[in-house]
Amino acid sequence: MNLLTWLFLAAVALASATRLWLAQRQIRHVRAHRDSVPRTFAEAIPLAAHQKAADYTAAKARFGRVDVLVDAALVLALTLGGLLQALSDAWAAAFAPESLAHGTALLLSVFFLQAGVSLPLALYRTFVIEQRFGFNRMTLGLFLADLAKQTLVALALGVPLLLAVLWLMQRMGAHWWLYAWGVLTAFTLVFQVIFVPVILPLFNKLTPITEGELATRVARLLERCGFKSSGLFMMDGSKRSSHGNAFFAGFGAGKRIVLFDTLVSRLEPAEVEAVLAHELGHYKLHHIVKMLALSAALTFAGLFVLGQLIDEPWFYAGLGVRTPGTAAALALFMLVVPEFLFFLHPLTSLYSRRREFEADAYARRHADSRDLVHALVKLYKDNAATLTPDPLHSAFYDSHPPAATRIGRLQTPATSPL
Ligand SMILES: [Zn+2]
Repeated sequence: MNLLTWLFLAAVALASATRLWLAQRQIRHVRAHRDSVPRTFAEAIPLAAHQKAADYTAAKARFGRVDVLVDAALVLALTLGGLLQALSDAWAAAFAPESLAHGTALLLSVFFLQAGVSLPLALYRTFVIEQRFGFNRMTLGLFLADLAKQTLVALALGVPLLLAVLWLMQRMGAHWWLYAWGVLTAFTLVFQVIFVPVILPLFNKLTPITEGELATRVARLLERCGFKSSGLFMMDGSKRSSHGNAFFAGFGAGKRIVLFDTLVSRLEPAEVEAVLAHELGHYKLHHIVKMLALSAALTFAGLFVLGQLIDEPWFYAGLGVRTPGTAAALALFMLVVPEFLFFLHPLTSLYSRRREFEADAYARRHADSRDLVHALVKLYKDNAATLTPDPLHSAFYDSHPPAATRIGRLQTPATSPL
């Protein structure tokens, strides 16, 4: 026990208490507004749909409290509870301590432990909550097949990365963290490029959209915005969930646009065009590159800090580890940092909501804002997204502005440039 122990305990307690308190506020707020549809949406959203959204939001927030307790219990068990030390000792019987094999085995066992603990929670979320509200389309067979494939992909990508980082930590001296940062950043960029063409097809069928009104509209939109892509695809998201989405990934002329079939079937072509104009806004305003740069900067700062801590005995002793080592340092860091970073949530959410307003402004310059409003209202309704979130919960977590504010802005006449 040292000062770090107390700081860490205080962070876990404060983060968990804040999460529980915000969930409680959210539940109370949506319940209190359950029986009247906000005026902006009164014509478009029937009371029954509004009530479903309230119940769905409350059910998710209620179950989210279990997540909070499980997360806190697991992180405390692994650190101060001595579980990480016990795993390290157990693997030391099979592999030489501080060998790459020992480090990899230790980190993989932590990942599998975390995955194993979150599995029942994921099952409950999919087959009880999503099922009850009519969103789940997944069978248990598909869930298990996904799980097996995800595990294999994570191992295929993660193990070489882990080996590279551990090797650099042991061989590169005091500046190992700089090399590790280079490897991690390169990995992230490669992942962006291979995600749609290589990884996504393992899980979903992607069909090119080349004909029809939608293809024509999208082609015209891309031309207006000066956007080059290597294709528009429809993805069979409906085999898992009825929630809809659209995104694109990749860089340069290799960018691919992916629309969920659920989105295409629910929205008119003009509305899909408006949603896509919003997504293009994120790209054209460099939001994606900025996000990647920001995460690279945070990784840099994090690894620098770890570089300073890794030789300090108090770092290990304060977090329940008796035998210092590179893999233990990495595991501790990944377990402990999120507890402290939790309090940055309001800032990152604020940053993200600003980017959403900017993308909406871009969309109204390049498509019809009325189409975007119609599309958003349909999506709020279909996804049972609450129109009346608790303001504090929303300020803390929401990456997107509250529905009423967002629609309100889209409906005000555009201010003309000077
Ligand atoms: Zn957006």
